[in-house]
Amino acid sequence: MAGFRPYQSDSLPSQDPRQPVSTFRPPVAPAPTGYQQAGGGTYAGQRPPQPYGGAPTNGNGAYGAPVQQYSYPPAQQSQQQQPPMQADPTGLAGQMGSLGLGQEQYAAPRAGKKKSRHAYHNLETAGKGGEQQFSPEVPATAQGASWGQVAAGVPSNAYGGGFQTPLQPQGQQAGARSSTPLTGTPASSSQGKVDPEQIPSVPRARDAPTQYYTEHVYPTMEQHLPPPASVPFVAVDQGNSNPKFARLTMNNIPSTSDAMTTTGLPLGLILQPLAALQEGEQGVPVVDFGEVGPPRCRRCRAYVNPFMTFRSGGSKFVCNMCTFPNDTPSEYFAPTDPSGVRVDRLERPELLAGTMDFAAPKEYWTKEPVPIRWLFLIDVSIEAITKGFTDAICGGINEALFGHDESNGAAEGEAETLSLGRLPVGARVGIATYDKEAHYYSLHPKLTTAQMVVMPDLEDPFPPFSDGLFVEPKESKHVIQALLKKIPKMFSKIKNPEPALLPVLTSAVEALKTTGGKIICSMASLPTWGPGRLFLREKPEMRDTDAEKKLLTTEHPGFLKVTKLMTDNGVGVDFFLAAPQGGYLDIATIGYVSEKTGGEVYYYPNFHHQRDQLRVAKEIKHTLVRETGFQALMKVRCSNGLQVSGYFGNFTQHTFGADLEFGVIDSDKAFAVTFSYDGKLDPKLDAHFQAALLYTTATGHRRIRCINMVASVSESAMDSMKLVDQDAVFGLLAKQACSRIPAQSNLKEARGALSEKTIDILSAYRKNFSGSHPPGQLILPENLKEFSMYMLGLLKSRALKAGIEPTDRRVHDMRLVKGMSLLDLSLYIYPRIIAIHTLDERDGFPNENGHLQMPRMVRASYSRIQEGGAYIVDCGQLCLLWFHAQVSPNLLEDLFGEGMNSLQALDPFSSKLPVLETHLNAQVRNILQWLEDNRGSKGLVVQLARQGLDGAEYEFARLLVEDRNNEAQSYVDWLVHVHRQVQTELQGQRRKGGGGDGDADERSMFSFARLTGSG
Ligand SMILES: [Zn+2]
Repeated sequence: MAGFRPYQSDSLPSQDPRQPVSTFRPPVAPAPTGYQQAGGGTYAGQRPPQPYGGAPTNGNGAYGAPVQQYSYPPAQQSQQQQPPMQADPTGLAGQMGSLGLGQEQYAAPRAGKKKSRHAYHNLETAGKGGEQQFSPEVPATAQGASWGQVAAGVPSNAYGGGFQTPLQPQGQQAGARSSTPLTGTPASSSQGKVDPEQIPSVPRARDAPTQYYTEHVYPTMEQHLPPPASVPFVAVDQGNSNPKFARLTMNNIPSTSDAMTTTGLPLGLILQPLAALQEGEQGVPVVDFGEVGPPRCRRCRAYVNPFMTFRSGGSKFVCNMCTFPNDTPSEYFAPTDPSGVRVDRLERPELLAGTMDFAAPKEYWTKEPVPIRWLFLIDVSIEAITKGFTDAICGGINEALFGHDESNGAAEGEAETLSLGRLPVGARVGIATYDKEAHYYSLHPKLTTAQMVVMPDLEDPFPPFSDGLFVEPKESKHVIQALLKKIPKMFSKIKNPEPALLPVLTSAVEALKTTGGKIICSMASLPTWGPGRLFLREKPEMRDTDAEKKLLTTEHPGFLKVTKLMTDNGVGVDFFLAAPQGGYLDIATIGYVSEKTGGEVYYYPNFHHQRDQLRVAKEIKHTLVRETGFQALMKVRCSNGLQVSGYFGNFTQHTFGADLEFGVIDSDKAFAVTFSYDGKLDPKLDAHFQAALLYTTATGHRRIRCINMVASVSESAMDSMKLVDQDAVFGLLAKQACSRIPAQSNLKEARGALSEKTIDILSAYRKNFSGSHPPGQLILPENLKEFSMYMLGLLKSRALKAGIEPTDRRVHDMRLVKGMSLLDLSLYIYPRIIAIHTLDERDGFPNENGHLQMPRMVRASYSRIQEGGAYIVDCGQLCLLWFHAQVSPNLLEDLFGEGMNSLQALDPFSSKLPVLETHLNAQVRNILQWLEDNRGSKGLVVQLARQGLDGAEYEFARLLVEDRNNEAQSYVDWLVHVHRQVQTELQGQRRKGGGGDGDADERSMFSFARLTGSG
């Protein structure tokens, strides 16, 4: 969950350049009394080394964890390119307001003498006076052309010198070749086996940048690939958008379609327009041009941005998308200096920032913008009441609106964060409940208690009154709180079994018709009552067959209609769905409403009140406090030569080419855009992309968020391969695959296509870019080293895996993948695993710079799990605490408190750790806090998975994605399969379309022998 919301996007960023940089400092558990926090000499409670058991170690770390020195970025990288985060306090804060004032390395790009076209993004020119600093061989015409080109031939990108990485099977002479093997020479040789140590490690690829970016910033225009999406980082927006908002699959784009084809890669963009920023990042500036609106290109309608150039003394501006020379509107005119830069540029956020908000003039309004209205629809039918779901929902709403309530006994430390101050100013709430009928409540502040009015007619659903329906939570606090407390009791005697969902949804849209807004709807059983009732469609024999296709979608006219009604009126819905007995809810139909309106489904299969209550509360709060826009439209523009070819995500698009429509959109939602060539890109110019989201903020302002991305262009795709963004690539392929099911492909075909794509990309690389290597080697591009693992993780995910899966979970996860951020997606397909029993004593505490020291993560394979170990497993959706049966009783007591010295003693439904005064307890709570802060939309609670005791062990096994599980291969076998297919392709013998899931007989020594090239 994005715990930080340090910026009000409504206010202009601070312009005080002296303001100190605030760096990432997660909230930290109090030091256990008597102990010093991090690594102090008086660590009184220190147990002897290896106090908790665990495997024998090499003795390097105090707790048995081998200490590895990170080298990231690699040594050959010029450190000057990456200013240390705390080196200069003026850089970040002053970025927007006082660019270039004595802070050259952060400074705005300057215009070149004549190359004003490229003026705004050659950072190195500033202060050094030479555009060719990093690129003495760049031809004159391309001077400063782009970040990618400047880097060409110079191994200076952040991800290191090695451009490609051959996978050396053990037993070969790894060191003898000119290219670098993944690790050093294998220690021992076992003929014909792949050493799992040598295959690319996702945890390693995350740990190093995690550590690096706690001390360094990410400048957006300095030729570095964005950090992995799962890694927290502070970006400095230098005109190119912060990667949190947008990531291109390639930051250097081949000039022609043919050259693009040689890479096998997709060209596209992952957009997360309202992404939450991290502490230390400058907020998104808001620029108001009054009723005339922001200047736009007359030809292509692109909005003014840092890459538009001014000429003829400032009286013309040239569009960076279509190159059209526009007349500068007289009210926007400013003269240019001799180098062609507007003299007022530094006071113009729209000419400096890659991401900005424009105030939308009235002509962009469809209705008068007002602060957001939330309408809570609470299921009070018998299942919801008896299983405690209604209680959890009402408690969660109360906490989200009013903070800690003593009588609820909520956790310590949570009170402060659940405060009214974090709700958008002016937001209003309304409450309705429903079972076989719908009940609306007047919450008028003048009332002493809420007044219930029953909706008279399910066939003609309409809110029965309007005055007092939506109120300011603060003003009506006494009414709302009393009502929320009363609801679970009130309906416990009524016992209506069947909820009537569709009528209540329809009435809710009517209630929000004039303003737009958001519906938050809970439900705990199949809505089998009234107009639009649903029935049990799923039959076990349909699973994993062609008939399943129908179950993954809906043709229900009533739900289709209400969905359209919502989108048309700027309304969206988040569902909170509980299936207390794991029962069928027809999420395909219900969730469709969220999918198409831009909302979200929170799903609690096997809901258990004690275990899940905290999670429900956290998620309701999150859905209220995260940045939310409504009544939104989106359009993406790109340079001449390219065109948008598809959108993949959760939204409504009526016809191809039309704008995307979102009833609501929030900070966690991301979607993909693909591009195709309709001409040739000019390698002398850059490729530009601009996404524009017209939306109403939760505080009631109509805005246009502009997100600008730039990429260099080159004739040779070789340069492009150096700036491939792995996370954007797998993210795009994942969203594309899930968007095509079930209309264009079934699950098996989707898996097959992803498998083929993996092989296409790697064989294209082998064929066209890898240089000469022995045929027995699998060559992985440096920037796609972990790509195969991510693709395997995706194939094993609930959304796509083979085998039987309840359709509710299947369809829920498919939509999840389509809508989720790259951060969430990365964790979803490869979890973070942390060993608790081998923590270094400094782990989980702030280091000398105040940044939390995180331990190294563990690979997702049972072979990495130690006997007697204890592990945190976080996939962004759930967080397991897994304990080996022989875990140390000391560890359990340190973690859970006195007397808790056996696995049997623990409460299987506990959802959080107690607050204890032990070092280990504070460490783990801090680490969990860090994980929660670096997650997307789901609340982090822990779930116990004790070996041999808990059902969640199944989840644990499922998340060990490097192993053979989820009806798919192990990581090693998958690489062998991919490698064999690549070889077949190189020999011109590959038959496409088959073997999507990988044949079982491909794992074996036979395949290993192939991999070594000896067969
Ligand atoms: Zn244009």
